[in-house]
Amino acid sequence: DTIGDNLARTVAAFGDRDALVERPTGRRWTYRELAADVDALAIGLLGLGITKGDRVGIWSPNRAEWTLLQYATAKIGAILVNINPAYRSHELKFVLNQAGVRLLVAAESFKTSDYAAMIEQVRPECAGLEHVVLLGTEAWDALLDNEVDADRLARVGETLGADDPINIQYTSGTTGFPKGATLSHHNILNNGFFVGELCGYTEADRICIPVPFYHCFGMVMGNLAATSHGSCMVIPSPSFEPKAALEAVQAERCTSLYGVPTMFIAELSEPDFDDYDLGSLRTGIMAGSPCPVEVMKQVIERMGMAEVSICYGMTETSPVSTQTRADDSVERRVSTVGRVGPHLEVKVVDPETGLTVPRGEPGELCTRGYSVMLGYWEQPEKTAEVIDAARWMHTGDLAVMDDEGYVNITGRIKDMVIRGGENVYPREIEEFLYTHPDILDAQVIGVPDVKYGEELMAWVRLREGAAPLTAESLREFCTGKLAHYKIPRYVHVVDEFPMTVTGKVRKVEMREQAVTLLG
Ligand code: ATP
Ligand code: MG
Repeated sequence: DTIGDNLARTVAAFGDRDALVERPTGRRWTYRELAADVDALAIGLLGLGITKGDRVGIWSPNRAEWTLLQYATAKIGAILVNINPAYRSHELKFVLNQAGVRLLVAAESFKTSDYAAMIEQVRPECAGLEHVVLLGTEAWDALLDNEVDADRLARVGETLGADDPINIQYTSGTTGFPKGATLSHHNILNNGFFVGELCGYTEADRICIPVPFYHCFGMVMGNLAATSHGSCMVIPSPSFEPKAALEAVQAERCTSLYGVPTMFIAELSEPDFDDYDLGSLRTGIMAGSPCPVEVMKQVIERMGMAEVSICYGMTETSPVSTQTRADDSVERRVSTVGRVGPHLEVKVVDPETGLTVPRGEPGELCTRGYSVMLGYWEQPEKTAEVIDAARWMHTGDLAVMDDEGYVNITGRIKDMVIRGGENVYPREIEEFLYTHPDILDAQVIGVPDVKYGEELMAWVRLREGAAPLTAESLREFCTGKLAHYKIPRYVHVVDEFPMTVTGKVRKVEMREQAVTLLG
């Protein structure tokens, strides 16, 4: 099926049920209304001369139009290019040119960012950019104000294939420059469907989506999971606000809530958290970065999300590869990223030899199946570095798989430190440093060293009012508790770590800064 076929099926089965609720404006759509707007917009895009394979950029925080455009582009086979709402002109220009965007749909502004001004600024340097349509303007309204010619859409539908590219999603840029993963209908529709199936979604579910649509967490695990099961999508706010998410769950009787761990932490620490009625919540998804055990327990106990799952994945794999199931024990759900998803394969290999390691031993996680991207957009050399001849995607993540197939993510290969021949996994040291009473947050990196090849450096954020922390006192704290080669030699105290907009710590940038610090 294409995404258009799938939506038509849902409309036929659940046409009168709620499809989309936008809380900030109070607008709502049933499935029939959603499909009507999607068709009108698809005709509008064709009217601009956009056809199969053309790239259409979307640069906006979460709002209903984002979703309409997602389905309208898929309906005519245009390739949606997700542009990070936090980007500035330099990054915008890069994406528009790299992906060859013909039509850009954008919010006029967001918070302190004047999108319209930035677009005008870069436009002379983006030769392929023919049309810019700003949301909320007459030009946008005109795109939606069309008689729907169903025969024309049906004829266009016949030219589409499930393996055609329909989406370019840039990775978060945690480990370097973002790369554009090119994804097909088949890639993301299946992933949304199976993620939703493992969450037990039906037309009775209402999913609160505070995570960005520009990332696969929002547009695949949120939107596509919902529409492929007839569930309702609820947009609590344009970008994450803990109160708005809690209010949306209460007002819309949501059964499912999404977030990266930091979002759940923010919601749980709202001062009036206990005043919200979250009794409708049954499930949800936590994903994107390591989920602290304590937070997971609180989500289950205090938010009532008894069936919450943890997903592991990456943009390049549409995104989810492993997921915990509702019937997994709480212990497993708080401590692993679950087992491989339906119709997918995962294996853990020795990155040097490529051979599968015994269960229980660490190695690189590889995944294969319908979810593996077509490739990085116009970067065949980069694609060949990660997808091998047998179509295994090498994730760059370190993992351990137990006898029953449960996977634990232990870090990223790029973050692994080799000190004097010993492999050191920063994650393990970070977990230990959290036990220090003065340390609020800790990140460990490797820095070049003449004698050992690499040495360890801990970056720490201290609790308010804590005494200054020296390398000597930290080493003393570690002695006797960590093997000597795992004890950080250097300590760097900071207020904030360098972060990506998806909330991940950028260790590449820390390593660059560390080299300067050490002179
Ligand atoms: P880039 O590839 O540009 O450096 P990125 O890898 O952070 O950025 P994404 O595709 O958004 O970009 O994130 C995928 C990565 O996030 C995975 O490779 C993994 O390292 C991490 N990740 C995702 N889910 C989990 C999880 N449940 N637990 C631990 N890590 C996770
Ligand atoms: Mg990555």
